[in-house]
Formats: sequence, C-alpha cells, structure tokens
Amino acid sequence: MSSSTSTTGRRIVVLGAGYAGLSAAKGAGRHRTVTLVAPEERLLHRIRQHEAAAGRGRDWPALGDLARGRRIEHLRARAVEIDPDGHKVLLDDGTTLGYDTLVHALGSRTAWHGVPGAVEHAHPVERAAEVRRLIREADHPGTLAVVGGGATGIELATELAEAHPGWTVRIVAAGQVGGIYSPKGRAHIRRVLDRLGVAVHEDATVTEVTPDGLRTTAGPVEADLTVWAASMEPHPLAAEAGLAVDGRGRALVDDHLRSLSHPDIHVIGDAAAVTVPGVGTLRMGCATALPQGRYVGRLLAGRTSKPFSFRYTAQCLSLGRRDGLLQLVHADDSMKPTVLTGTAGRLVKAGIVGAVLSALK
Ligand SMILES: Cc1cc2nc3c(=O)[nH]c(=O)nc-3n(C[C@H](O)[C@H](O)[C@H](O)COP(=O)(O)OP(=O)(O)OC[C@H]3O[C@@H](n4cnc5c(N)ncnc54)[C@H](O)[C@@H]3O)c2cc1C
Repeated sequence: MSSSTSTTGRRIVVLGAGYAGLSAAKGAGRHRTVTLVAPEERLLHRIRQHEAAAGRGRDWPALGDLARGRRIEHLRARAVEIDPDGHKVLLDDGTTLGYDTLVHALGSRTAWHGVPGAVEHAHPVERAAEVRRLIREADHPGTLAVVGGGATGIELATELAEAHPGWTVRIVAAGQVGGIYSPKGRAHIRRVLDRLGVAVHEDATVTEVTPDGLRTTAGPVEADLTVWAASMEPHPLAAEAGLAVDGRGRALVDDHLRSLSHPDIHVIGDAAAVTVPGVGTLRMGCATALPQGRYVGRLLAGRTSKPFSFRYTAQCLSLGRRDGLLQLVHADDSMKPTVLTGTAGRLVKAGIVGAVLSALK
C-alpha cells in the first residue's frame, strides 16, 4: 500500500487482530467497511501458545479466511503511532491511515519487571516457536525453568513436562503456584505437577536471570532454558498517544468501551481497563477480550446501544493433554469451592477453546 492519508467517509480502523480486535472487526464488518491492521497472516491463537512451545501446535486459520464474507480490508502492518487529535494512525510501512472511529485492540506482551538478565537470557511465552526450536536443537535433554505460577506458567510447565519427559522441568513462582485457585483447585494442580515430575519452587522471586539459570530470593535455580510467563503488560501505544490510562498503562474506558479521554477511540481486550459494576476491573484474558470485541462490533454495526455487561462464570486450565481444571467462580471472579478435574476438566477446557475458535469463524 502506498503512503496516503484517507479521512473521507465514516472510516473504521481496528488495530490488532487478536480475540478482541478480530471479533470487533467481524461484527462491524457486517454492515460497515473496516480496515484491520495486524502484522500476522494467521490468527494469533495465544491461548494455545503453551502447546506451540511444546511442539504440539498447528497452524491456525488465516485471517483472510476468518474475515471472509465481511467488509474487512486486512493490512499486514504494525501501528507505530496514534495521533488522536489528527485522527490518524502511522504504520510501520510509512502509511498514514485516517479514521473516524478507531478500535485499539493491541493486547499485551510479556512484562519483564526490570529483572536483570531477563530480556537477554529468558524466552517470553509469545516466542513459542523459539522455545520449540531450542528444545528440538538441544544436544541432550536438560533443565527447563518456567517463571510464573499463574495460569500461563502452569499450562506451560505441565505441557512442556508431558511433551518432553526427558527434560527436568521447574516452575518458579514469587508466591504460591496456582495461588489464586480454590484449595481443591490448587491441590489438583499440585498433584498433576508432581505426577509429571515438575519441581516446584515457591516464594522464590526471581532477582536475576543468567545463562545457566535464575537467582531467586529462595536461592539459585539451575536451568539450561528459561521461559518467562511471569506477567503481562498492556501494549504501550495508548499511553504513548496520551489516552487516559491506569497505573498499569491500560486505557480507561466508559461503559461503552470508549476511551475516557478520547471517546472516538474504543479500547478493548488486554489494552483496556474495563470496570463493570458489581464485577470490578476485568482481568486480562481471552475470556474478557472476546466479549468486549463482540460488543464493540455490535455497537459499530448499530446492533446495540446498551452499555457493556459481563459476568464471570469459570476459569479453566489445561494441564497437559490428559488433564485439566475447571474452577467455578462467582460473578466477580472470586473462587467457588467447586472444581472439575482430570478428564472432565480437560474435556471442558478443550470445549471452551474450540468454542473460542468457532466464535471467530
Ligand atoms: C499460553 C497462554 C495461555 C492463555 N490461556 C488463557 C486462557 O485459558 N483463558 C484466558 O482467558 N486467557 C488466556 N490467556 C490470555 C489471553 O491470551 C490474552 O488475554 C488475550 O490474547 C488478549 O486478547 P487481545 O485481543 O486483547 O490481545 P492479543 O491476543 O494480544 O492480540 C493483540 C493483537 O494486536 C496485534 N498487534 C500487536 N502490536 C501491534 C501493532 N503495533 N500494530 C498492529 N497490530 C499489533 C497482534 O499481532 C494481535 O493481532 C493465555 C495467554 C497465554 C500466553
């Protein structure tokens, strides 16, 4: 595409084709023409990245196929700057795109928390292909440390241990592994980690990453390969553009998911701090990004004018290919005592992941 500035017409530009951006573009694209900006050719199916890291992934559908039948033009580029006053977005190929309505759905990325050596020596979960290659190319099985005791770290550690039984897998957490889940949920996660031979290092805040492992507040942890899944931070472009953001850099939005400071910009998914009465500020997650994208798609297509609403019902985890956990939660995401584990948990998780893909088709 040549360099141009287009500001004519009611132009909708969606930045990001993750769960939030793609579903917003598809909803709006039923009746409106949408320009969708995202660098990838195929769906970035982040909730399967732990499988890809373990060498079990497959190719996900092409965005062109997922957008078929809708008035969507996909530009394979990255947004590098948003000019909210000029209603323009600058792309990395030099194009300037004008918009009347902008949907910012740029998601999140690994947060390194300034830990010395982390950027140099650890591999972020989103570079799953790199982790897969390093395991495949290793002369002999070694030791692999997964940093992060939340959902992503647990899914990664169990998947890697199951797929590569010759490797010693360690999970390293600043607090308790799976600390947010109910006692039954935590106990099940621990049983599966033990069964798969994963060494658990708790209350071990990482203070440095070195080529041969980690220094932590609980002592050194040896590792040939470190995968970082400690936490995520929102894409910085909203803050850089001067949109009102919270302390973590997530854009503050109203009940129609419009930026509080720039109402012609919708911000959705991990990049937004969405607060729902009675529920609180939503956590980053596919489970929250997808409904936000669908809502904004309906809003832009003129199919709703109601405020965004949302209730949590469950959290689910895959624990390798043979086990899983479904943790029931209250509407505000606090834990209920009830869990489904083992094959039942795995099947429900697989069903939910399948439903996510169906929702994007
Ligand atoms: C291994 C793993 C497992 C997970 N499991 C779960 C789970 O079970 N349940 C759950 O709820 N959540 C889960 N998550 C979290 C979930 O994946 C994210 O919260 C979700 O992907 C956020 O969706 P999003 O659409 O906001 O952003 P993303 O999915 O991050 O998509 C961002 C989009 O923006 C694009 N982009 C980035 N920068 C630019 C740029 N400069 N210009 C243009 N485009 C750009 C990207 O290419 C992408 O298309 C998991 C995450 C990981 C890593």
